[in-house]
Parts: sequence; structure tokens; C-alpha cells
Amino acid sequence: MTSRLFDLGGKVAIVTGGNGGIGLGMARGLADAGADIAVIGRNQAKSDAAAADLGARGVRAISVTADVTDKAAVAAMIDRVAHELGRIDILVNNAGINIRKPPHSLEIEEWHSVIDTNLTSAFLCSKAVHPAMKAAGGGKIINIGSMMSIFGASFAPAYAASKGGIVQFTRSCACAWANDNIQVNAILPGWIDTDLTRRAREEIDGLHTRVLARTPAARWGEIDDFAGIAVFLASKASDFTTGTAIPVDGGFSIMGRRICRSASS
Ligand code: NDP
Repeated sequence: MTSRLFDLGGKVAIVTGGNGGIGLGMARGLADAGADIAVIGRNQAKSDAAAADLGARGVRAISVTADVTDKAAVAAMIDRVAHELGRIDILVNNAGINIRKPPHSLEIEEWHSVIDTNLTSAFLCSKAVHPAMKAAGGGKIINIGSMMSIFGASFAPAYAASKGGIVQFTRSCACAWANDNIQVNAILPGWIDTDLTRRAREEIDGLHTRVLARTPAARWGEIDDFAGIAVFLASKASDFTTGTAIPVDGGFSIMGRRICRSASS
């Protein structure tokens, strides 16, 4: 009974930005549960390597090179996945970037680039998969937010706006598509060790130790920490769970900095 709840055998998942970082961590979880995977990214060599990693887990895995901010590229990508893997049951909107600048220094082109990659792409991909999921009698959409879906940061105005927006977009799609048996949920990662945050650690003085001090689990997250939540939100186990935004953060979002300091002193 339990194993069937989380079984993804016969399902097909699209993971945008699945060629590295958190996306690859989720894709590995979905593949281990039996899903065939399409990895979407711009860097073809990286995507090919990820598809090989996933294929070695015994599922079909393909890489598709596409810019998820481009409506025509998204449409072509969805067509190719449906053609090559036969169906689309799960969409993970994970592709994301950040440009770390305060609002007074951020250029409008930089604003659009972050919003388009982190938020508009989720709209484009979700809208594009909706007909196939509806026709199949249901589906699962997983959007990736952030701690910046909850908090603001002086260095991340566009990023925080995009990640706040993704939660409201998740809720709206969950309402719109509940009758189509499509569950739409968001994951809010804490501070995870990936290329994205490696750059942040270089650029923001003291970030590494401040994250450790505020995280009850007392460590940075690993990409493997996202396998379980991805399988839950992609499987029958979450059929009555929709519109949620679930932190996967080692407790970062429930721990106040001062409390953390006084408790440890
Ligand atoms: P990475 O930089 O490792 O991964 C980002 C992925 O997005 C890459 O695979 C990249 O592939 C893809 N990508 C970026 N732009 C595009 C585009 N226009 N079209 C297609 N693919 C694109 O970062 P993370 O794994 O850390 O981030 C993954 C998600 O998790 C993001 O949404 C991020 O905001 C979120 N997140 C991360 C946190 C962390 O601590 N790491 C914390 C909170 C949220 P390619 O370069 O090939 O295009």
C-alpha cells in the first residue's frame, strides 16, 4: 500500500533546470520512484550529463535544450517531450536565477530577466502542459519558491518579487485546475549548497556562518534533501494537497535570529 502511494512507474516528469542543483536532486528522486524524466536547460552538455545520470537509474531520460522564458521554445519543448516520452504527468518549474543588487542599482533589463526566468517561465510551462494533463485526467505541478517567498532582502528585489509571486501563482493555478484533478504546490527551499549559492557565498560577506547560525538543523541543505518532497508532491500521496507552499529549509523559516543566538549562548 505505502509503496504504491509513492510509485511513479509509467509517469513522465519534466524538470526545468533539472541539469544541476536542486532540479537534479528532485529529478533523481522522481527517477528512483520510477518516473521517466525530461531535463530542460540551456547548457546542452550539462543536460546530457544529467540525462545520463538519470538514465543509469533504470528510467528513460532525455535532455531538451530550451530557454524557458521563450514561449515558442517552451511550446516546442512540450511537444518534443510528449512525442518522445508519450505523455506528461508531472511538471517541476525549477529553473531560476538571481541578480544580487539593491533596488536602486537594479536595471530594468535585469528586473525583467529575473522575473521572466523565475516567474513567467512557470506560467508559460504550466499553461503549455495543462491541455495534456487535463486530457489525461490529472497531473502534478511543483513550483520552486524560496525563503524570499516569505522574507525580503536588500540585495534581491526582483528575486524576492518573483518568489513571492510564485506562491500566489501556485495558489491561483491550484484553484483553477482542481476540477481537472491537477494538484499545484510550491516548495520553498532554505539555503542549499548549489552553483547559485556558491556565488552568493563569494559575494556576500559572512553569509555562510549567518546561515548556519540561523538554521536549526545547523547545516546547509544538499540537493538530495529535495528528492522526498518531490516524490510526495508528484505522487498519489498528495492527491488532496494543493495550493500549499512547503518550506524545506532545516527550520530556517521558523527560527528567529535572536532566539537562536540566546539559546546557544
Ligand atoms: P542552479 O544555478 O544550480 O540551477 C539553476 C537551473 O536553472 C540550471 O539548471 C539552469 O540550467 C536553469 N536555468 C536558468 N535559466 C534558465 C532558462 N532561461 N531556461 C532554462 N533553464 C534555465 O541553482 P539552484 O539549483 O540553486 O536553483 C534551483 C531553483 O531553486 C531556482 O528556482 C532557485 O531560485 C531555487 N532556490 C535555490 C536556493 C538555494 O539555496 N540554492 C534557495 C531557494 C530557492 P542552464 O544553465 O543549463 O540553463
